[in-house]
Amino acid sequence: MPNTVLIGAQWGDEGKGKVIDVLTAQADLVVRYQGGSNAGHTVIVAGHKYVLHLVPSGILHPGKQCVIGNGVVVDPLALIEEIRMLEKEGIVVQGRLCVSDRAHLVLRYHNALDKADEAARSDGKRIGTTGRGIGPTYRDKVCRTGLRMGDLVERDFPERLAANVAAANQALAALGAATLDVAELQKIYAEAACALAPYIADTVEVVNAADRAGQQILLEGAQGTMLDVDFGTYPFVTSSSPTSGGACTGTGLSPRRVERVVGVIKCYTTRVGEGPFPTELLDAAGEDLRQRGAEFGATTGRPRRCGWFDAVVGRYSQTVNGVDLWAFTKLDVLDSLPVLRICTAYELDGKRITTMPASLAAFQRCKPVYEEMPGWLQKTSQVTRYEDLPVAARAYVERLVALIGGKLGILSVGPGRETTLRLGL
Ligand code: GDP
Repeated sequence: MPNTVLIGAQWGDEGKGKVIDVLTAQADLVVRYQGGSNAGHTVIVAGHKYVLHLVPSGILHPGKQCVIGNGVVVDPLALIEEIRMLEKEGIVVQGRLCVSDRAHLVLRYHNALDKADEAARSDGKRIGTTGRGIGPTYRDKVCRTGLRMGDLVERDFPERLAANVAAANQALAALGAATLDVAELQKIYAEAACALAPYIADTVEVVNAADRAGQQILLEGAQGTMLDVDFGTYPFVTSSSPTSGGACTGTGLSPRRVERVVGVIKCYTTRVGEGPFPTELLDAAGEDLRQRGAEFGATTGRPRRCGWFDAVVGRYSQTVNGVDLWAFTKLDVLDSLPVLRICTAYELDGKRITTMPASLAAFQRCKPVYEEMPGWLQKTSQVTRYEDLPVAARAYVERLVALIGGKLGILSVGPGRETTLRLGL
């Protein structure tokens, strides 16, 4: 397998976990490059469901090495909990997982600030954060006040922590939120440092040494392109770069060593939290998609907003990420719909556009321009070969690919590993 970056092409929850699981079989090293424990990959192996927030799902494949790269922000307590959960399931983690010494730490005060900030925002201004401290941690990183995984095991960590907690307490008090106890946090993180020390490494060297040795690297993105801090629907975005460029800044692997980009995209569209969503279905049809697709967040349980496939988003994602191969997921969710709509362009102030407006106000005014295709009204989840799909189902997927560019590599027709039709991947 060529060194591959896998990205989500929409607003996250595209089913990346499952496609990563399929690609991991061909990889030696699986690397996370951005985000934090706000992401939730769901993988079903032999009927057993695993929800992973920080550890790459490659850990579920015996013998694969996993890396949490420098672009990820890591809550040490969440990481310890996840490692313990995996060990309880009989999965060997130590010796197979390492976390970058350059990765920024999500500490208790980040969680508290995240919640207090969001609570202080008025209706309509909330970002819809998962409250896990991710935004405040990236803020500290950019402000150059953050603490990193490598700092956790240094002698002066308790003092540096105390200084940061004091500053955070001032901000929390100003927001009317409860302040934090420094001594308690020092104790918690001293224990965390002992537990995590065996996992902390210079992952720039780990990843590049693996590449030099001819090993195959899979770089997995969390969230999705439309949540990218630069390319997404700002400010209703995450604080990192889930797009393919983030794979290099988030790991230290050179762009010249990325050989392929795989995009994961749902056969319809969903979004969690606030922000514009032109093809959203606010009626019974949207509720129907939500129920059939089990569209509730893996991390928060929040119901996802559902709508028709948006080819403007798909094409934009293809442009920004340079997707070679697409993995389309959740075709089976559309099985019972007599007619399917595809958004091919937007109508903005009387003009037809096919590009993504940067302005949130303009994006909010965009009205979807639809074309319609007949549904197939048959179950697809038992189909094991692409050729055996109903003709209308193939026509639908092929139309989506033609509209957004790139090639079809995988088509997923159910949640399990076995319901994955592989074409070019
Ligand atoms: P991720 O964050 O992109 O990995 O997405 P999630 O794992 O949160 O959400 C994907 C959900 O859809 C999981 O519950 C998967 O088991 C499920 N899923 C993935 N592919 C398919 C599919 O083709 N059909 C159906 N019905 N479910 C799928």
